[in-house]
Amino acid sequence: MSSESRENSEKSSRVSRRVFLSSSAAGVAGIIVGGIIGSQAFPREVRTTETKIETTTLTKPTTVTQTSTVTTTIIAEPAILTPPPPIPDEKIAETVNADVVVVGAGLAGLMAAYSAGEEGAEVVVIEKHKGPNVRGAHINPGPAGKLFKEAGITVDYEKAVREQIDIISGNKVNEALVRLWLANASKIVDFIADLARANGIPAQVLKPKTYLEEAWKDWPRPTYKFSNETDFDGVAQLAPLLEKIAKDKGAKFYYNTRALQLIREKNGRVTGVIAQDAEGRYIKYNARKAVILCTGDYSSNKDLLKIWAPPEVARLADLPNRIIYPMITPTNTGDGQLMGVWIGAALDEQPHCPLCYIMPGGDVGFAISALAGLGPGKGYMLICNPFLFVNMFGERFTNEALPWMWVINRVLQQPKAMYWAILDSTWEEQVTKHGGGYRRITNPELGREFLDGALKSGAAVTANTLGELAEKMGVPVETFKKTVERYNELCRKGVDEEFGKPSRYLVPVEKPPYYAIQGIAVLLNMVGGGLKVNTKLQVLDKTGKPIPGLYAAGNAAGDFYGQYYSLVVIPGLSHSRAVTFGYLAGKNAVKT
Ligand SMILES: Cc1cc2nc3c(=O)[nH]c(=O)nc-3n(C[C@H](O)[C@H](O)[C@H](O)COP(=O)(O)OP(=O)(O)OC[C@H]3O[C@@H](n4cnc5c(N)ncnc54)[C@H](O)[C@@H]3O)c2cc1C
Repeated sequence: MSSESRENSEKSSRVSRRVFLSSSAAGVAGIIVGGIIGSQAFPREVRTTETKIETTTLTKPTTVTQTSTVTTTIIAEPAILTPPPPIPDEKIAETVNADVVVVGAGLAGLMAAYSAGEEGAEVVVIEKHKGPNVRGAHINPGPAGKLFKEAGITVDYEKAVREQIDIISGNKVNEALVRLWLANASKIVDFIADLARANGIPAQVLKPKTYLEEAWKDWPRPTYKFSNETDFDGVAQLAPLLEKIAKDKGAKFYYNTRALQLIREKNGRVTGVIAQDAEGRYIKYNARKAVILCTGDYSSNKDLLKIWAPPEVARLADLPNRIIYPMITPTNTGDGQLMGVWIGAALDEQPHCPLCYIMPGGDVGFAISALAGLGPGKGYMLICNPFLFVNMFGERFTNEALPWMWVINRVLQQPKAMYWAILDSTWEEQVTKHGGGYRRITNPELGREFLDGALKSGAAVTANTLGELAEKMGVPVETFKKTVERYNELCRKGVDEEFGKPSRYLVPVEKPPYYAIQGIAVLLNMVGGGLKVNTKLQVLDKTGKPIPGLYAAGNAAGDFYGQYYSLVVIPGLSHSRAVTFGYLAGKNAVKT
């Protein structure tokens, strides 16, 4: 596919995501619809209605009456968005009453259960999975983090927030929610850090290497991590601790129980949830005060990815091993968003913000362990270093030295969302000069470990000539050779006229043996699209009014991320929002 036709198919699949309403003379709408249907990622019902309209124009001295036909074409919402029939009372096997019903026992749900209990409420937690679900590396403490103070670190959060809102989110977020996070995160995250330390978990500052370039030199900013060994899965250790403090406040947990439908009374109030346990029994959970949706995101639901995520991310759903959540939390299927939408809640406009990343190709075990920091390279990867990158056409496609969130956006646009990093035998010397940058390898020993692992796993190939290398990569030999020739020419000039990579990274690829390491785009963390909430974390309806008795926190809530979620601007923001807003939602649910 040429790059032009790739871009065209991209544009048309974006158009297909909207409900398309066109009023025009008969025939025109039909043509538009025909163009759209062919590229739809998700099947939708198409309805066309024709209305005859008589228009009388009063013009002196004659009156003219004209008849025209208006054709309205609606591409209907997918069936998944249609509310299912209510589960009737006679099917309910058990009823449980509480003040507050929390749905989901991730970070947001655990903190909501704890804080509602702290307010003296009777709390139940319904969780689809067999236990609480917590994962990942870090939690951002916000501006007054105690451990930052301990380490003598200051972070300019005003700058970070402006970058997050204005640059990363395209000013598409509700700033009041970001400010709510900013004002409350530190005390809640520090409470968690103290709890961790008191239980032998080494809560500490994670200070990653920063980029050399002036424009990105504050990135990645520091955050908190909860492990000495690796920056990967420290946060998971918090699950039993948070479950325990919630239980100590009286919360009761119902695991292997999936919330299916919200109960909304005629007066508009949400009064409970109907759920199903592992035996298939329906249980009604009545909430005297409120239901708090903490059901996380929808990365494990391919159908929702295809209608709500950006098209380039939706495409990943059809490639093997590209969506990380199902491997870790298969229960995150967007149930909270759907249950809310079914009773009239407003959802973030689409496409929603994804957090994509890259991992090496090759066998999945190697790729995941390299990404997780548990295997070769310890979380640093040569595919993050600014070598020459080519796509499967053998063409260069980006400034390779940009921060990862920008590089990944171009990788996602390449066929199969993959690329090859091209190294020659001088790579060890080069990496020592690459300096900072997220996950870049600067230590040749780590680099060797990573490269050996990549060669063994099938993620890398090596050859003594460029032609042989291209053949092993499966890219067109002549195009690849021309790309390298042109790149080398730019390196010799010291000016990247094609993509503007800084000259310090421009080193010709000319000394065999050559290596090519495959990088693939993955949806790493989440798709950050949730139900619209106000600063009390009450879920809003489509007119912007709070739905009485319904709250949301964590990824089930929206209006917080615009176009991208960044791993480098405010790392650990997603966990931090989950614990902060979970805590606040629990308090608010009891007080209102
Ligand atoms: C591999 C990986 C690494 C990550 N690393 C980081 C990191 O280092 N830093 C960071 O800030 N973020 C990270 N994230 C993202 C982060 O984990 C989430 O954004 C965050 O935990 C969201 O918290 P939550 O409470 O909203 O949802 P979750 O923690 O996802 O919890 C939602 C819970 O709701 C349950 N649930 C869903 N539907 C129902 C239902 N119908 N009934 C009952 N229960 C239901 C689910 O089973 C789940 O337990 C990572 C994500 C992944 C996948």
